[in-house]
Amino acid sequence: MNRLVSLIIPCYNEEESLDYLYAALAEVSAGLPQYRFEFLFVNDGSRDGTLDKLKALAQADPRVVYYSFSRNFGKEAAMYAGFCNAAGDYIAVMDADLQDPPSLLPQMLADLESGDYDSVATRRVSRAGEPPVRSFFARMFYRLIHRISDADMMDGARDFRLMRREMVDAILAMGEYNRFSKGIFGWVGFRTKWLPYENVERVAGTTKWSFWKLVKYSIDGIINFSQVPLSLAAWGGVGLTLVSFLMILLVIVRKLLFGDPVDGWASLVCIITFIGGVQLFCMGIMGQYLAKTYLEVKGRPHFIVSQTNAPNPTRIR
Ligand code: UDP
Ligand code: MG
Repeated sequence: MNRLVSLIIPCYNEEESLDYLYAALAEVSAGLPQYRFEFLFVNDGSRDGTLDKLKALAQADPRVVYYSFSRNFGKEAAMYAGFCNAAGDYIAVMDADLQDPPSLLPQMLADLESGDYDSVATRRVSRAGEPPVRSFFARMFYRLIHRISDADMMDGARDFRLMRREMVDAILAMGEYNRFSKGIFGWVGFRTKWLPYENVERVAGTTKWSFWKLVKYSIDGIINFSQVPLSLAAWGGVGLTLVSFLMILLVIVRKLLFGDPVDGWASLVCIITFIGGVQLFCMGIMGQYLAKTYLEVKGRPHFIVSQTNAPNPTRIR
């Protein structure tokens, strides 16, 4: 029996890209007759004609399976839904906008077949066509996370990767609510080959990521995969306490030597606002972790599928 390859494609308002993507997938799969394919499209609560497009594609090609969410749950939830429902021996995640070139698939499959790797991941070696500010902050993020987290994340890493079943099972075992895939992929380990390629601009439509959404996403990544900010808060507290002991000594000595003149109002105000700021900042850090914990503890489902053409779907998980 030929091996089954599952391609998971999260789609949010992608009606303009889907035809190009499907054409590319049809071409690549035709060139790989030794494999069977299933195309798992996850419609992440799109507001445009994405779902109708998917239904039409599914009518025409039985390999097309769609899962349509009851609202927008985010790309992470869409990928998770894909993993939950993928039956393949090899499983890949791929963007709908052709920024993850399907033409890399034959090479990726060959690398897995060689038996030396469990996963082939892609990373962009250029960020052409991206605003420079965005590239700069992206680079800063990877440098920071590399220092403060065990989950190794590669600069320029895409979510586009092909994995063996074993690795996907490990990813499914990580049922956390706050999902940060780049961290999850790194955390589970396995032998990964990195495939560099030049950045491709999206074929149609517009990016779903604003600058602030990316900033929030990177903060999520740090909080989800590192405890260092918490220790920073603790060490900052220890440092400030030591400083305050020195100040107390200084004040006592000054009182003994020079009496007790009433001045220093300005410095007092500075100290109070500074300490107040540091305290609020540290409480904010704790609050971030607490908020994550709160969401985890509630154990709400990651996604809700309201429409699908799959025979036995995982609808809610
Ligand atoms: N996406 C999604 N849900 C969202 C946002 C994005 O499923 O809430 C999908 C989107 O349809 C695309 C992929 O995630 O297939 C990557 O999004 P995009 O191309 O906008 O991001 P970029 O490539 O600019 O980082
Ligand atoms: Mg894109």
